[in-house]
Amino acid sequence: MSDSDRQFDRHHIWHPYTALREPLPTYPVTRAEGVRLYLEDGRALVDGMSSWWAAIHGYNHPALNGAVTGQLAKMSHVMFGGITHEPAIRLCQALVAMTPAPLDKVFLADSGSISVEVALKMAVQYWQGRGKPEKCRYLTPRRGYHGDTFGAMAVTDPDSGMHWMFKGLLPGHLFMPMPQAPFDGDASADLAVAEQYFAEHHHSLAAVILEPVVQGAGGMRIYSPDYVKGLRALCDRYQVLLILDEIATGFGRTGKLFAMEWAGICPDILCLGKALTGGYMTLAATLTTQEVADGISDSPAGCFMHGPTFMGNPLACAVACQSLALLSENRWQAQVAAIEAQLKAQLLPLAKAESVAAVRVLGAIGVVEMKDPVDMARLQARFVELGVWIRPFGRLIYVMPPYLITPDDLTRLTSAIKAVV
Ligand code: PMP
Repeated sequence: MSDSDRQFDRHHIWHPYTALREPLPTYPVTRAEGVRLYLEDGRALVDGMSSWWAAIHGYNHPALNGAVTGQLAKMSHVMFGGITHEPAIRLCQALVAMTPAPLDKVFLADSGSISVEVALKMAVQYWQGRGKPEKCRYLTPRRGYHGDTFGAMAVTDPDSGMHWMFKGLLPGHLFMPMPQAPFDGDASADLAVAEQYFAEHHHSLAAVILEPVVQGAGGMRIYSPDYVKGLRALCDRYQVLLILDEIATGFGRTGKLFAMEWAGICPDILCLGKALTGGYMTLAATLTTQEVADGISDSPAGCFMHGPTFMGNPLACAVACQSLALLSENRWQAQVAAIEAQLKAQLLPLAKAESVAAVRVLGAIGVVEMKDPVDMARLQARFVELGVWIRPFGRLIYVMPPYLITPDDLTRLTSAIKAVV
């Protein structure tokens, strides 16, 4: 890359959550293969991020490549209004088959944030159709994260998220304390707190939205599945819909195909994204039930009010079908279990280090929470020197590698974390 291209990147192109004035450094990557990202200067980095939870099968995967090129030769995109196609139908059939039986209606969205917008709209339109338009607010635990669009931001933690910047523009939804019970802890005290919110506000509540078992970008917290189970019961008792955001946790990452399986429950609305296409293209899906779909049909609008230009993009659907086919070969279970065992063995001892506040591992997710915020630019450079791609934020250093990572490569990731800790 020429120096002028680098300068153009620095001065004209926004990267996620960065300023154009003195932006954090970026690293030119020219290709990726398996669990390795190749920098322009030839260095190979072991990828600890799966490109933010997405590239579960690794990069440049022959079967996924084949799905894209096979579809490309037929058609890359066609509008979904008034038209349908096999890649979308096959994908939705697969999603309906792999999720709990009541979730059999699918809306294909173009990103995770949009699938959350769709879920929020579905809940409100449902209650309109059931003659309760006053049920139009959402309840959610603190430290959640659901995306960067306005609806999604409005249900993302008001303090750790972006609320304060957009005060006055974001509707005031209800935030309850985040669950405190750890993964195998007793959630009854958390649920008693949650119940107070239901009791007081259920008349105005359309839905509860949360990330089951693992809160991602809001703090990489892992909490008790009993909390999710208890919220399901509260939603039933107080007539509130349950929306689960499995955009990060879906497709095997936590050790179950979906994190809701730890709780043994089914939501009314489910959001999926990220790993849906194996990290190849942007695509997300919102699934719901016959009951919710009927309510939406009965609403004054008479139809569901959403329809993006790239809805059901055939290329994305084709590669998603192939990614789900790879998952159905069921190697992921043993791979994720092995990653979990190794992360526990190699990361949990770091909890004793002076600078470390806590270490958490679930499935193929390993989190080291530091006592103080990290210097992102410095740490990122150090990780690159150590031959790994790990992108910390705030006080968190975390990994969620592609499932096919070998024990040796995983040791490179954990050794690098150990070195910086
Ligand atoms: N929900 C969760 C739990 C997420 O982790 C993310 C992405 N970080 C989103 C929603 C938003 O997805 P996207 O970035 O694809 O819009």
